[in-house]
Amino acid sequence: MASAKLTFESGGTFLRDTRKDAEAYLAQSRVRARGRVRLYAKALVSLGMMAAGWSVLIFAQPGFVVAGLCLLALLAGVLLTAFCVQHDANHGAYFRRRNLNHLVGWSADALLGYSSYAWRVKHNVAHHTYTNIDGHDDDITQMPFARLSPSQSPRGWYRYQHLYIWPLYLLMGLRWQTVGDIAAFARGKIGESVLRFPRGLNLAGVVLGKAIFVTWVFLIPALVYPWWLVLGTYLVLAMVASLVMATTFQLAHCVEEASFASADSVGHGTTDWAVHEVQTTVNFCPRNSVLTWMLGGLNYQIEHHLFPRVPHTHYPELSAIVRRNCERHGIRYSTQPTLGRALRSHYRHLRAMGRLGIPLEIEVG
Ligand SMILES: [Zn+2]
Repeated sequence: MASAKLTFESGGTFLRDTRKDAEAYLAQSRVRARGRVRLYAKALVSLGMMAAGWSVLIFAQPGFVVAGLCLLALLAGVLLTAFCVQHDANHGAYFRRRNLNHLVGWSADALLGYSSYAWRVKHNVAHHTYTNIDGHDDDITQMPFARLSPSQSPRGWYRYQHLYIWPLYLLMGLRWQTVGDIAAFARGKIGESVLRFPRGLNLAGVVLGKAIFVTWVFLIPALVYPWWLVLGTYLVLAMVASLVMATTFQLAHCVEEASFASADSVGHGTTDWAVHEVQTTVNFCPRNSVLTWMLGGLNYQIEHHLFPRVPHTHYPELSAIVRRNCERHGIRYSTQPTLGRALRSHYRHLRAMGRLGIPLEIEVG
């Protein structure tokens, strides 16, 4: 079971050496400028695709084919905003100033329908600090629906989780857009990380964000299209986006090559945090530059976990530095070369977690 407070050793030689090399690379002003220009250009493309797809649907009400293309542009814009805009901004990678990052990160509230304030605790604190630690990392806590970590209690139905998990991934986004963040505010924590009820500007951001999201997704479209078409379109787009987002994050952590830990096994202040992050994370398709571009570098999650405040446009170059230092320090650095192999590894992990620990009499028949 999770204990109240977990601490790591955070000053190990691996992180010190890797940081030194990464800082030397990022000290080149041309390199830094190039990374930022690419990041800002992606933000314009992401938001532009959303705006263009939505505007043509609302103001031109096109025929079937063009409407389909607009919906594709809207879906692509939503995914790019999630992966390349809000994620980097909420980590503090867009600007030096915190409030500017929070403003861009607020795109999660207004455009994607979930609270960036809650996301920063769920993702930046619970997931990034306590990756794959049962009870602390909310991303691997899906009981009683699925068992993602070996230290979680078995249930008979988990043996089918490799089959039924995919419809659940379709629904995860809907949960966060409707009750997920509100329920987290009421609970006051995510995993074991404290989530204070938002006040002042943060509360205004949550309320205004929900209002803007409902307005552009439901109210304005319902002025020009039948309500059932608006609702049905929202459900389909939200579920597809949810499936892509959930699968992308799972391929980095819930796979055979990743380590898992319980709070007890990590100890208090004895586990090297950076080593823990590398061993609980797996990269995939590093050579596929189109996928890297679309996923906001989330196929380079090892680099992302070590350098979450560095724009993701630097991850391919940082990966050579991290890999070299892993070799030097004898740390396992895992990469799946193709998307198919990463998906199969996730599938096999789900099947193994579903079977492990099931009482013998159930297992044999
Ligand atoms: Zn992140």
